[in-house]
Amino acid sequence: MSDRYDIIVVGAGLIGTTLALHLAKNTSLSVALVERNAPIVADPNLPLDVRQTNQRVVALGHLAVEMLTDIDVFQRLAEPHAHPYQSMAVWDENSKGDLHFSASDAGASELGYMVDAQACTRALQANALTGGHKNVTCFFSAAPRELTLTRGGARLQGDGFDLRARLAIGADGGRSWVRHQAKLFANRRSYGQQGIVAKIKTSNSHQNCAWQRFLSTGPVAALPVYDNYSSIVWSADNAFSKELMGMSDSNFSVALGNAFEQRLGTVIELDKRQAFPLVSLQASTYYSTSLALVGDAAHSIHPLAGQGANLGFKDALCLSQMIAQVPKDDIGELAFLHAYQQKRKPDNQQTDWMMTALNAGYKVNPPLWSAARGMGMNWVNSQRNIKALLAKQAMGLT
Ligand SMILES: Cc1cc2nc3c(=O)[nH]c(=O)nc-3n(C[C@H](O)[C@H](O)[C@H](O)COP(=O)(O)OP(=O)(O)OC[C@H]3O[C@@H](n4cnc5c(N)ncnc54)[C@H](O)[C@@H]3O)c2cc1C
Repeated sequence: MSDRYDIIVVGAGLIGTTLALHLAKNTSLSVALVERNAPIVADPNLPLDVRQTNQRVVALGHLAVEMLTDIDVFQRLAEPHAHPYQSMAVWDENSKGDLHFSASDAGASELGYMVDAQACTRALQANALTGGHKNVTCFFSAAPRELTLTRGGARLQGDGFDLRARLAIGADGGRSWVRHQAKLFANRRSYGQQGIVAKIKTSNSHQNCAWQRFLSTGPVAALPVYDNYSSIVWSADNAFSKELMGMSDSNFSVALGNAFEQRLGTVIELDKRQAFPLVSLQASTYYSTSLALVGDAAHSIHPLAGQGANLGFKDALCLSQMIAQVPKDDIGELAFLHAYQQKRKPDNQQTDWMMTALNAGYKVNPPLWSAARGMGMNWVNSQRNIKALLAKQAMGLT
């Protein structure tokens, strides 16, 4: 006998859990949340601890923060796990281009928050498990084996569970098992780069500013968190990233200080480094019969502007709001799912193209091109209206 739900969400990461909780709050539909791993913390009531912060933060804009607040999760993320930042400084190794914009350019108090990805996922999962949601049932340590999609609905089977629903939602990340099962083609392109992440402490204050310098080998960013700590994302070509990962802590710290031209002073503490392969992935179709994809399962992009998760939050909000507006029998219909794709795919694709163009544009350095790029950046830096637009874009308001 299978258990019946209205919706099955596969993947309890940032996007899948947010979507499940948003549906629980804004609809009366029953949701099964299926995650192959155990919850991040066995006892979700344990207090969050500063030493448990991981190396990776995500820069979240206003829409993501509002969504997390709406489902009572952002409130659980006090310092050091959510840190407001006010400005961004962008400059270029190969030109004199220097650009600085801030929330005040757009009349706001912050551009967004630097959120510890693991702490945020843990707070989401804790809420799903213990928040008293009658219409969310969690299945952790539950690896699915088979997904059957028919016009009547979806069936998900694994060891110890057999679930049916009108709609299955794949929120299971870039290597999505759900996408493979549904035979949805995805265009996957490697950037030939690794993103090296680590937490650092610097001798100078980060001034609540996100620092990003474009090097010929890829961009390096320092995202401000508590005290004088920052979380770095150093996107470097494969050969160079191998060299960087092989360096001693002290040599890496010196290389990093130089990469930022000492604008943050010297690196006085360096946490463990981790490297992630950087890819662009776009599913050609976000849906199949009784199935939709959200978040990285549908699209992964270069992290240089910190937009990947933000796009996933937009998918989740869009799909949840659409589901709330139609009779539940319609949520697995192809016409409904096609309308969801029409709303989200252009934004996701354009952001991907923009990131690819930015990453490539800063790696091409004939003298005339770099000079023009530098002049362009400095011109933008002198234009208040354009800086207001850039600030709004960073806040996720455009
Ligand atoms: C170096 C780096 C820096 C980044 N910085 C930023 C940033 O500053 N801002 C930003 O917005 N984004 C950033 N991103 C992107 C962001 O991290 C991702 O877009 C986001 O984590 C995607 O969330 P997700 O929930 O879609 O997928 P995931 O986080 O991958 O979660 C997928 C979940 O599904 C589960 N799962 C997988 N397979 C199965 C299965 N078969 N069955 C059940 N469960 C399954 C996984 O265990 C996991 O819990 C960055 C990415 C990288 C690599």
